[in-house]
Amino acid sequence: MTKRVLLAKPRGYCAGVDRAVVTVEKALETYGAPVYVRKEIVHNKHVVQTLSERGAIFVEEADEVPEGALVVFSAHGVAPAVHEQAAARNLRTIDATCPLVTKVHQEARRFAREDYDILLVGHEGHEEVEGTAGEAPDHVQLVDTAEDVDKVAVRDPSKVVWLSQTTLSVDETLERVNQLKGRFPELQDPPSDDICYATQNRQVAVKAMAPECDLVLVVGSTNSSNSKRLVEVALQAGARASYLVDYAREVDPAWLSGVSTVGVTSGASVPDILVMDLLAWLADRGYADVHEVTTANEKVAFALPRELRKALQENAS
Ligand code: SF4
Repeated sequence: MTKRVLLAKPRGYCAGVDRAVVTVEKALETYGAPVYVRKEIVHNKHVVQTLSERGAIFVEEADEVPEGALVVFSAHGVAPAVHEQAAARNLRTIDATCPLVTKVHQEARRFAREDYDILLVGHEGHEEVEGTAGEAPDHVQLVDTAEDVDKVAVRDPSKVVWLSQTTLSVDETLERVNQLKGRFPELQDPPSDDICYATQNRQVAVKAMAPECDLVLVVGSTNSSNSKRLVEVALQAGARASYLVDYAREVDPAWLSGVSTVGVTSGASVPDILVMDLLAWLADRGYADVHEVTTANEKVAFALPRELRKALQENAS
């Protein structure tokens, strides 16, 4: 049996995650430890553990941060109420919210100002959804499942817009929006795609290779929305089996039984070193022949948060 690996590209770190991780690293270098971080800076176990070892302290809420200390807000974004809590405790803040999440916040604020009912397609309890909904709590209703579509009630069916979480499955979101349009034919689309370029590109890449794969391994954490979507997309696109693992050591060797082609990809919050570890693990088991399947070349990069750029400039001069 021929054994080979198809390696998806793009995979791993997106521009928003890279910026958020570098923000914490630079904050540690500039201000020294400890640097507090509200929530996981990005949804990846390895990243959180590595930054913790360097002096980052992860907390759930701003009220756990000592008065006057420095806190970084995660890439997933925060509701305005969190900025207010931080100000009330005199916290110094660096906001590492991904600019593409900020864009959705701005859309929510704008449509709320125009008094629209906003149907936010996203996963209940996800931090990003909490932050976006928090921009306009009186106007936003969350739509997660098909059942939620039936529960939505709007004031004026001609003044309804849908927005979404940035890390959803493109196909499932389309399905949910079509269900919503069945109820509200005048439902308006967002001014531009809310599902971000990185989420879409990683799904396109996994779709391209999945039909040839007996098994698709996705490196990513269980609380990472975009990583979990990659497993679902792989299965829908024809992979015989697909699993999410944080580390190569979590792969059950039994999954390889009878497997000729293994597809490998990783979520947007995953450093590539973890993928390289997995490739080495697979090579040890005879899967040393690796072919990259490239569906896009990403060149997106975001500037560091303004607060941090200012401090870095002051330090330099
Ligand atoms: S997945 Fe998309 S929205 Fe989230 S941090 Fe990355 S680029 Fe930004």
